[in-house]
Amino acid sequence: MSTARLTIDLDAVTANWRALDALSAHGTETGATVKADAYGLGIAPVARALAHAGARSFFVAAAEEGAALRETLGDAVRIFVFSGHMAGDTDMIGDLGLIPLLNSIEQMTRHIEALPMHPFGMQLDSGMNRLGMEPEEWAAIRDIALRQKPQLIISHLACADEPDHPMNAQQLSQFHEMTVSTGVPLSLAATGGILLGRDYHFDVTRPGIGLYGGLPFEDAAPAAHLSIPVIQTRDLEPGEPVGYSNSWIAEEPTRIATIAAGYADGISRKISNQAVLFADDVPCPLVGRVSMDLITVDISHLDHVPRTLDLLCAHQTVDDLADIAGTIGYEILTSLGARYARRYRGGAA
Ligand SMILES: *Cc1c(COP(=O)(O)O)cnc(C)c1O
Repeated sequence: MSTARLTIDLDAVTANWRALDALSAHGTETGATVKADAYGLGIAPVARALAHAGARSFFVAAAEEGAALRETLGDAVRIFVFSGHMAGDTDMIGDLGLIPLLNSIEQMTRHIEALPMHPFGMQLDSGMNRLGMEPEEWAAIRDIALRQKPQLIISHLACADEPDHPMNAQQLSQFHEMTVSTGVPLSLAATGGILLGRDYHFDVTRPGIGLYGGLPFEDAAPAAHLSIPVIQTRDLEPGEPVGYSNSWIAEEPTRIATIAAGYADGISRKISNQAVLFADDVPCPLVGRVSMDLITVDISHLDHVPRTLDLLCAHQTVDDLADIAGTIGYEILTSLGARYARRYRGGAA
């Protein structure tokens, strides 16, 4: 087999969920954000494990994701949709009992006209200027919206991964102002917000990245392990090049292993000549360019040819790799390719 193996540790995901849950008070419900196929790890197995661990409120970006999730989890959970009620979503929202988080007066009108009495929530903009109703807009329709009894009012923090950023307190105060005496359950915190402390927790939290082993949750257990098979090795004389554009040249006798993954699998070309892979505990430098399906690795210092080399493992987290690629752990995870053989460990029901 020449496809790399992505092992997803569902016990790590549920342990991370419990650890984040333990950071908030008993009365705060810890939800789970599983948009983008559970950050690339597979929405069905991940959501099943989280539901088994006790999660009851799930958050997705699009109604289509919510539809897939409903099929997986059945009717016992609430499924909130960040993008709200878009044109064309009505049947899915109505038939599958999804809860759109309405972002505008237009969405609210659409929802109430198409599905009167169907549950919904509101998303307010407390300063990020991405989604949700602006303070003036909200002030204008607040009484009408509240009469329809929303299930949840949310807002999202722009700088929660920087605890000292003044934006956090600013958004907190704006959120308080917009939600004073609504009597509706409130939600402000994703992973970063949970780590900011109790003032940010309100009634429901919505962690995503922390569940999957990424920063800013420093204590997260890694959930993804990527192991790539060696297809072939070759021995180079000094002066011989490796890969496209001859971007790496052997300075001494070198043994190169060619392994079966590349940028088509979401491994950024930016890690060319930068990253290392691991043969168990031993780092081996990635040399030459990452190509579409192949990566070349210097294994001269090993006394054997390993069957596989690991890109994500205990020695190299998604955030380590993100630093090398000039991105964030979120992007490393959500780029994980469709070609990997995904194996799930733990999470037994
Ligand atoms: C993605 C997202 C989350 C989850 O954020 P993390 O930083 O991954 O915990 C929560 N709420 C909203 C509105 C989001 O878009």
